[in-house]
Amino acid sequence: MAKTTSDKPADWEIATRLVRGGSLRSQFGETAEAIFLTQSFLYESAEAADARFAGADDGFIYSRYANPTVRMFEDRLALLEGAEACRAQASGMASVHLALMGLVRAGDHIVAGQALFGSNRWILNNWAPRFGVETSMVPAPDIAAWRAAVRPNTKVFLIESPANPLLEITDIAAVSALAREIGARVVVDNVFASPILQKPLQLGADVVVYSATKHIDGQGRVLGGAVLGAHDLLEEAYRDPIRHTGPALSPFNAWVLLNGLVTLDLRVRRQSETAAGLADRIAEHAKVRTIRYPGRPDHPQYEIARRQMTGGTNQMQGGGTLIAFDLGDQAAAFNFLNALQLVDISNNLGDARSMATHPNTTTHRSMTEEQRLEIGLTAGWVRLSVGLEGPGDLWRDLGRALDAA
Ligand SMILES: *Cc1c(COP(=O)(O)O)cnc(C)c1O
Repeated sequence: MAKTTSDKPADWEIATRLVRGGSLRSQFGETAEAIFLTQSFLYESAEAADARFAGADDGFIYSRYANPTVRMFEDRLALLEGAEACRAQASGMASVHLALMGLVRAGDHIVAGQALFGSNRWILNNWAPRFGVETSMVPAPDIAAWRAAVRPNTKVFLIESPANPLLEITDIAAVSALAREIGARVVVDNVFASPILQKPLQLGADVVVYSATKHIDGQGRVLGGAVLGAHDLLEEAYRDPIRHTGPALSPFNAWVLLNGLVTLDLRVRRQSETAAGLADRIAEHAKVRTIRYPGRPDHPQYEIARRQMTGGTNQMQGGGTLIAFDLGDQAAAFNFLNALQLVDISNNLGDARSMATHPNTTTHRSMTEEQRLEIGLTAGWVRLSVGLEGPGDLWRDLGRALDAA
C-alpha cells in the first residue's frame, strides 16, 4: 500500500487525487461538484472590479478566461499529472494547437515524429507554415534523427508516444535531454498512454497535452482537451492566447470530464490489463502477420516502453489500451471488421466500449501513400481500442472475426 506522506493534496495517493482533487464547494455544501453555467461574474463594487482586472485577486471574470467548474477539472488533472498548472480547452485539437503555437513565432522551427495523429500532422504541415513556422518530421524512435533535424531556430520538439496508429514509442527522456542542450521545449501528446501510464513531465518534457475526449471521458460523451506544465510557462505562453482566441472548455463538458477522472485509474488499469491479455491471443492467431503492443517483448521499442510507461508515482507497468495488428491486405482487414459483433467499428479510442478501425481508409486516409509507408502503415493494419467489456466476450468476438479475416 502506497504511503501517504501528508494531508496536502499534492502528496495524496493517485486514487484520492482523482476523487477529491480540485473540488470547490459553494456556500450550499453540495456533495457533487456544481456546474457553474455562467458566462460572467459579478463584483461587489466598482473598486472590486478594478482590482480583479488589475490581477490583485484571483477571482473569476469571464468564462472565456476561467470558470469554477472548469477550474475544478484543471486542478484535479494537474494533481493527477503532478503538474504545477493546467488549462483546459474545448477539444484535444484546440489544446495541441495552443500548445504548439504558444511556443513559436514566425521564423521558428519544430521537429516532430513522422507518426502522428492526423490533425497534429495537419497543424504542422498545413497550418503552421502559413505563419512562417517550419517542421521537420523524423522517424521518432531514432534519437540521432532528432539531433540531425535540429536547426539554429529549432524551438519545439513534438512527441506523440505511443503514436497513432502503429504505437511507435519515442524515448521521451532522451529527446528531452537533447531539447535541454539546444534550448528547445518539448511538448508531449500523451493521449494514447493517458496520465495513468505515463508522466512526461517527470521524464523532462515541458508541456503535456491531452485530448480529454479519449480516456479521461472514456464514455463517449464530450470533447475536451488540456495543456499542463510549469505555472510560469503556462502563464507566459498560453494565458493571453487563451483569453483572446477563446478555446474555452464549456463548464458542462468540464463537469462530465471531472467525473470521468474519478474512475480513470480503475478504467485504464482494467482496460490495459485486458488489452495485454488480448494482444497475446491475437498475436498467436494464424491470420495475424505482425502485432504492435507496447507491453509485448516483440514491440520494437519494448525496452523504452518498459522504462517510461510506468505511471510515474503510480507504480504501474502497462502497455496501454490500444493494439495494432496487420492482417495482410485491406480485404482481410475489412472482413475482420465486418465480422465483429460486439466490438464497434469506430475511429474513437479510450472508450469503455471496445472499438476497431482501419487507419488507412479512415484516420490516416489524408496521408499520401509515401507518407504512410514511411511509418510502416500498409492496407492490412487494424487498430483496436480495448474497452471495459469482459475479456472472455471480447476474445470470442475478436477470435471469430480473425477466423473470418
Ligand atoms: C483524438 C486525439 C487528438 C485530438 O483530440 P480531439 O479531442 O478529438 O480534438 C489529438 N491527439 C491524439 C493522439 C488523439 O488521439
